[in-house]
Amino acid sequence: MAWDYKREVEAIQRHLGDLSFQEQRILITGGAGFLGSWMCDVLVSKGAEVVCIDNLASGLRSNVAHLLESKKFRFIEHDISEPISFSEKLDLVVHMASRASPFEFEHYPIEILKANTLGLMNSLEIARHNDARILYTSTSETYGNPQVVPTPESYFGNVNALGPRGCYDEAKRCGEAYVTAYKNQYGLDTRTARIFNTYGPRMRFDGIYGRAIPRFVDQALHNQTITVFGDGSQTRSFTYLTDQIEGLLRLAALDRAKGCVVNIGNDKETTILELARKVLELTGSHSEIAYYPLPKDDPLRRRPVITRARELLGWEPKVPLEEGLSRTIEWYMAANLGKPKEREGSRAEDRSQKG
Ligand code: UDP
Repeated sequence: MAWDYKREVEAIQRHLGDLSFQEQRILITGGAGFLGSWMCDVLVSKGAEVVCIDNLASGLRSNVAHLLESKKFRFIEHDISEPISFSEKLDLVVHMASRASPFEFEHYPIEILKANTLGLMNSLEIARHNDARILYTSTSETYGNPQVVPTPESYFGNVNALGPRGCYDEAKRCGEAYVTAYKNQYGLDTRTARIFNTYGPRMRFDGIYGRAIPRFVDQALHNQTITVFGDGSQTRSFTYLTDQIEGLLRLAALDRAKGCVVNIGNDKETTILELARKVLELTGSHSEIAYYPLPKDDPLRRRPVITRARELLGWEPKVPLEEGLSRTIEWYMAANLGKPKEREGSRAEDRSQKG
């Protein structure tokens, strides 16, 4: 059964209305990743010329394979932590390159730090030399385990630099400081998005990459135990990818968002146990739920204040969790079911005990 990615692209196009990227040349680092590849799809469909850089550390060539024939798309396999120069003039740089799964924090902490410091600095320099705009995709993890929930952009965070999430959280915080420095010292046109948990088709479920949603879907469809960490009362606010990409592109495109830092996420909070039950219901699975220790420093609540995104970007999340989950399950069944699974290093026992 083929899975039609165009439905997502068309939904985003529709919601972007007449925001135009026509004739712009745009560099996307991490463009073969989950969100990066959707960004490439939408921008090519909006008439931009896209240069995608990815070292395929966690991104997949298959995420952008369908774009390779387009004259509007170019793929460069390169680690953005190493400098690279361009002869063509760029209009916008989107720095998305970074591993983002908590399982990866343990295995690749230095890579993660480099992608958000050296890699980001290379992107900032490219933007500066091209007099281009830059969008940095930061994260809700800059708030750590927040003591203020719902969390507004003005909250400074509660982060353990030495803990298992320190490499990611501090890398992204340092990234935000870099962006601010380039804005202040060089007058660069910068925008920073704090992305809250986003999910959907193309999100990896294999090996060490799986986040809660793809893992639960994968487990449910294989009638394996659903691995809930802690008692499942910790919360996240899940954003479907079409909403996320729309928010990011509004932030990138709107002149009035220059220099701004904006939370982009759904403000509907869900416990992880509710999530596990919803996945069971939607897949019709008979899997049991089993409980494992909560990893160290796992944030207990995560929910954004999205007033700024609403007012500044005219954006709000549109896709309810059930609908986004159903679409993710459809994709999973069409694209992945029956493929061999590489699970080493991703077992719940490994992660929770080491955490
Ligand atoms: N989680 C879980 N079981 C899993 C994977 C994740 O209970 O197999 C929990 C995890 O402890 C966290 C939440 O689900 O509280 C979201 O985890 P995810 O890895 O998706 O990303 P995070 O928001 O922690 O960065």
